[in-house]
Amino acid sequence: MTTSSADTGNGRSFLPVDEARAAILDGLSPIAGWERVAVRGALGRVLAEDIIAPYNVPAHDNSAMDGYALRADDLAADGETAFAVVGTAFAGRPFSGIVGAGQAVRIMTGASIPQGADTIVVQEIARREHDRVFVPAGQKKGQNLRHAGEDLAEGGVALAAGCRCGPAELGLIASLGIAEVAVRRRLRVAILSTGDEIASIGRPLGPGEVYDSNRYTLFGALSRLGCELLDMGVVPDRPEALEAAFRDASQAADVVITSGGVSVGEADFIREMMARLGEVAFWKLAIKPGRPMAFGRIGDAVLFGLPGNPVAVMVTFYQFVQDALLKLMGVSPLPPVERFPARAGFALRKQPGRVEYLRGRLQRDADGLSVALAGAQGSGVLRSMSEADCFVVLPEDCTAVQIGDTVHVQPFHGLV
Ligand code: AMP
Ligand code: MG
Repeated sequence: MTTSSADTGNGRSFLPVDEARAAILDGLSPIAGWERVAVRGALGRVLAEDIIAPYNVPAHDNSAMDGYALRADDLAADGETAFAVVGTAFAGRPFSGIVGAGQAVRIMTGASIPQGADTIVVQEIARREHDRVFVPAGQKKGQNLRHAGEDLAEGGVALAAGCRCGPAELGLIASLGIAEVAVRRRLRVAILSTGDEIASIGRPLGPGEVYDSNRYTLFGALSRLGCELLDMGVVPDRPEALEAAFRDASQAADVVITSGGVSVGEADFIREMMARLGEVAFWKLAIKPGRPMAFGRIGDAVLFGLPGNPVAVMVTFYQFVQDALLKLMGVSPLPPVERFPARAGFALRKQPGRVEYLRGRLQRDADGLSVALAGAQGSGVLRSMSEADCFVVLPEDCTAVQIGDTVHVQPFHGLV
């Protein structure tokens, strides 16, 4: 893993966020394996092959409005034209005759255009008197028609392999009459927490212990991504226990995500063990929170060693791990990193050299979007994540923010 580093001027070097992200993504390719699922089961799954439209959608030229189908050539250049209404076309129950000169057919939205007709006049502007309808001037030939294949042409790619199916895709697949699709198999992700002080919920805390929250935030994030989860629990800071856990996890899963134990001081024996088990780089990232992170491979599994602090876990997960998992899941192209400007409703000073991810709350006022800070910003304060609806991303070179400055925010809704 070759990566350059930025010198922050204080003699220590940190890996810039963008370089780390690129280095991670570069080395990954989608897992093999797929299965067929019914349309509903494809929600959140990644298409393993292109979906080709077996016929035109819509299948027939049809009316976009309720109104009258007629021949535009029969319309007078000025004033009203009278037509004889000779029948009705319903959606699913077409008019079987032919529309002749001076004739019109009452037509409902979605009904096939009757033979002979080429134009729809909406009912609101037509004046009906018994079996005649009067149409004002100013109609355009071909108006209010939906053409066969306008949505999808027969033989065309309706959805490309790599597409992650959402509600629109399920509907689109169904609109083609397709009942089953090929999707990539679920990504298997093992998670484990490390630390002698980490206690699982369900028993009282001993002195100096903290409850394990990281496995629960990771459970949430991974479940939303549609991963298959292997929860390996809490592993104490004992080399043999850790080595066994890493070995098991890497044999059972495509990806292993750990939290804790990668900070300087703690990392030494983990480093040794990782060197024995696989190829893992320990990075000092130019990011706050979340400076230390390990990334590499153990056996065939990809390893992410996230820091222990709960907010740092979430920040590093969303900035580095999520896109990596999407790539392994076969998602292509990856969604762009969504960021937009907002006015800062806060002021602060910042050390240069690290990208800082603050937790913010967006608000819309007369001047547009502004963002306030969501509570205490310590990297252990998980409540700030819960109260926030966005990250405020301050770039490496930023040294201060004044109220009213433009800052960039990354909304949580885009983070799956
Ligand atoms: P570490 O990276 O192992 O030095 O942990 C940094 C901080 O995060 C320490 O205060 C840990 O107690 C805390 N921490 C580590 N793992 C977890 C976890 N799974 N849940 C909650 N806090 C944790
Ligand atoms: Mg620890």
